[in-house]
Amino acid sequence: MSKDETEEPKTPKTPEEFQKLFQDLFGKFGNVSFDMGGMGMEPEGEGHGEPEIEVKEQTNVFDFDLIPKEVKQHLDRFVIRQDEAKKALAIAVCDHYNHAKQLKALEAENGGELPNGFEYQKQNVMVVGPTGVGKTYLVKHIADLMGVPFVKADATKFSETGYVGGDVDDLVRELVQKADGDIELAEYGIIYLDEVDKLASKPGASGRDVSGRGVQTTLLKLMEETEVPLTNPMDMRAQMKAMMQMRSGGGSSKETINTRHILFIVSGAFSGLEKVVQARLKSGQMGFGAEISEAVLDGESFREVETRDFVEFGFEAEFVGRLPVRVVCEKLTAADFVKILNDSEGSILRQYEREFEAYGIDAHFKDDAIEMIAELAEKEETGARALMTVLERLLRDFKFDLPGTAVSKLEINRDMLENREQKLKEFAELGKRVDVKKTRAEVDIWEQEFSTKHEVSVKLTDAAVITLAERAGEQGRSVLQVCRERFKDYQFGLKLIEKNIGQQEFELTPQAVADPDKFLSQMVVLSYGREADGGSSSNQDS
Ligand code: ADP
Repeated sequence: MSKDETEEPKTPKTPEEFQKLFQDLFGKFGNVSFDMGGMGMEPEGEGHGEPEIEVKEQTNVFDFDLIPKEVKQHLDRFVIRQDEAKKALAIAVCDHYNHAKQLKALEAENGGELPNGFEYQKQNVMVVGPTGVGKTYLVKHIADLMGVPFVKADATKFSETGYVGGDVDDLVRELVQKADGDIELAEYGIIYLDEVDKLASKPGASGRDVSGRGVQTTLLKLMEETEVPLTNPMDMRAQMKAMMQMRSGGGSSKETINTRHILFIVSGAFSGLEKVVQARLKSGQMGFGAEISEAVLDGESFREVETRDFVEFGFEAEFVGRLPVRVVCEKLTAADFVKILNDSEGSILRQYEREFEAYGIDAHFKDDAIEMIAELAEKEETGARALMTVLERLLRDFKFDLPGTAVSKLEINRDMLENREQKLKEFAELGKRVDVKKTRAEVDIWEQEFSTKHEVSVKLTDAAVITLAERAGEQGRSVLQVCRERFKDYQFGLKLIEKNIGQQEFELTPQAVADPDKFLSQMVVLSYGREADGGSSSNQDS
């Protein structure tokens, strides 16, 4: 065996190394060739046609060993579109955590001292995009992959001092909680702040003028470097608890969290920013006869955004300066929604199918239903969030009416969604039809369940099964449910009879189904009579 074969494969760094790794890997399964096509390595886009790599979630952030392409591939499994954002975020987090690793190694080598010249500018990220296009979803999956704690908050809930709204420092403390008290891990966590655009303090902006600027300043401190106390100085209970812990010697040796390595990702819709950019571009191009078309902040025009546009929008230059990585998440269309529903591993359709499954209903979405859901969602203008809203609206009655009926299969197609009332009526009729074989099977389950639980055996006669099926049909409920309910406390009476006359097997007739209480009490009374006789173990005749 050559040395190469015995060694663990290294993390590939170049396309060639990648190709070799794959060839080695697939070579084990036969003669498979792999051509990644020059330096391009993989076709860009929605992740189709890319070689599938099992990207392992990182268990220890200080052993981080992913490359940006792997991070993007991981994100492709869940997030549809947003390729630029995925790339930029992948690079930012890889750099960030590689730095963490290097730092750790250097600290160990130099006894905690960093060598001169070892400087690093944190790559905090600003994500611009409308609501519901996957911004949070991206960050969450990155944090999961990295194995670092992740905290999300809306910038609007903070006030400058922390007296009115929340305290910005609380975010950092929350990271410690998410890291189960592991301060070192929390110091490498990710803080995601949504709606930062609301912190803009443009003259005339409603209400947040002063405090918006104040919050920017406080956030700026966090993004740079500061020590945040582990307990909120305003929270008396937490302070007391910490003090008591210190006294009892159980307190943590570290009382503050350093924010130097916390990665900040901020986002917002920034509506109006496109106008700022447009105005600047227009004035710059005046005289050249260039006309700028309708202002929309898409990926294309976002490339034109400069720090001064954010400043014009109402941000402190220092604040924007601390967010060097800037990306756009684009608005999603109905076609994207179809992809999200069909291809994203986190698709909400799977959730709906699971929910129906829990009621014993095998539900399946057809393509035309998926298209309809996507079209309706697009009209809502709330991004992919609308998918949930639309699905809930369309399926609410089915989710309410069908569980507990005889319906065990549900094909969700456009016709069903368009004619909901009619379909629900049809299902109600279907539920009433008596299917003796199916009923018998369900009764068997109940009989088994009852005997195992109560150690007395019950058996419904064939006539009783038919009566039961009719009852269940009329009520539009499942046979199993009706059985469980009708014979709910039967074990007590039957045990009593067993005690009286030793009978362990009981036959339940149509009368038992029609009036369970009367049937049981008659049997019990009879058993007392037979007890006096010395107990004969025949079934009750009915
Ligand atoms: P926002 O951009 O406002 O942060 P979210 O990331 O919270 O939006 O998206 C809400 C939900 O919609 C997500 O949990 C996810 O299920 C779905 N979603 C949004 N965008 C995408 C996308 N690009 N790909 C797949 N699912 C998405």
